[in-house]
Amino acid sequence: MMSMHEQMEQAEKSILHTYNRFPVMFDRGEGCRLYDTEGKEYLDFAAGIAVNALGYHYPGYDEALKAQIDKLLHISNLYYNEPMSEAGEKLAKASGMSRAFFTNSGTESIEGALKAARKYSCTKYNGERYEIIAMNHSFHGRSMGALSVTGTAHYREPFEPLIGGVKFADFNDLESVKVQITDKTCAILTEVVQGEGGIYPADPGFLQGLRALCDEKDLILIFDEIQCGMGRTGTYFAWQDYGVKPDIMTCAKALGCGVPVGAFVLGEKAAAASLEPGDHGTTYGGNPFVCAAVSKVFDIFEKDHILEHVRELTPYLEEKLDALVDKYEIISRRRGKGFMQGLVIQGISVGTIVSKALENGLLVISAGSDVLRLVPPLVITKEDIDEMIEKLEKSLA
Ligand SMILES: *Cc1c(COP(=O)(O)O)cnc(C)c1O
Repeated sequence: MMSMHEQMEQAEKSILHTYNRFPVMFDRGEGCRLYDTEGKEYLDFAAGIAVNALGYHYPGYDEALKAQIDKLLHISNLYYNEPMSEAGEKLAKASGMSRAFFTNSGTESIEGALKAARKYSCTKYNGERYEIIAMNHSFHGRSMGALSVTGTAHYREPFEPLIGGVKFADFNDLESVKVQITDKTCAILTEVVQGEGGIYPADPGFLQGLRALCDEKDLILIFDEIQCGMGRTGTYFAWQDYGVKPDIMTCAKALGCGVPVGAFVLGEKAAAASLEPGDHGTTYGGNPFVCAAVSKVFDIFEKDHILEHVRELTPYLEEKLDALVDKYEIISRRRGKGFMQGLVIQGISVGTIVSKALENGLLVISAGSDVLRLVPPLVITKEDIDEMIEKLEKSLA
């Protein structure tokens, strides 16, 4: 049998080197814990980057997927399938929005949202409006369209020219958005809590201001809920806590809790004058298998009160993290909402702490250049939080 080290070396021979991976190969998960191929246990506060909201092997989840495998895995979008219809209805109910298009990833959800916004403006304003205002330090994905609206130059620059008509403003700075609006503006796009950029929650006034601008000028307001959505901040979607509803929302990551699925969801205004038959499509998107997962995830969230659990435990998590901020010089502050938390690190690289934590059996990740990011499964317990703090302190020391 190959050692874990040999297995990793073998992977490096055939897999394109687009990631500097951590030196660990995972084999299986159970609850909020992972096990590498040598059997070492890790407490998971990364959740596959905010995907595994229910941890691993949550009761009922595997069974629902296995049952769907036995019935039907894939059928084209040329036909109806029952899981898609159920998943669509549950997504509409959870969001109070009208219509979903299921995709295979976050970046595809962004592509769809941008197309839907452009189509709306094309229909209503004869193609005179096409500009999209996105935010600095945002992250929306790696495909050419999503890259075009991602506000970090080093992700974009090697791939230019990207799609045109994109302008950038500063997150949480309404004035900086206002000055970018012209008679060609079509949409404004923002995360509600910036994730990759360093865990920055939106100010309520910023989102309210964007909503007012969009209403006044008939622009499409797009919220990217790919990371902050699906219960992570204590409501299904982070915007629900702000009471500011977008015209289009994107989801992915935790939507299927481990199967590759995303969606862009249109509110009534956008749905009434947007994509029509022939405008958009996907072979896999919304197939019965992934939609059975989405549908089951919503059932579990309801039955087991996952949102309530996040809201209940958030003060405890925040209190414990705040104590670390007080105790350690190298942690300058905490930012975040619910189970999407960041610790700002100074004087030492975040990567060093993440690597130390891995050695100590704790998975955490970084965000931006100086933030330690905690995006655990939503089903962690108080004891898991205590254990995380203990392992993190060991890694900080
Ligand atoms: C992860 C992420 C994306 C991209 O999703 P992929 O599934 O990796 O394409 C887009 N927006 C946000 C906010 C994300 O966190």
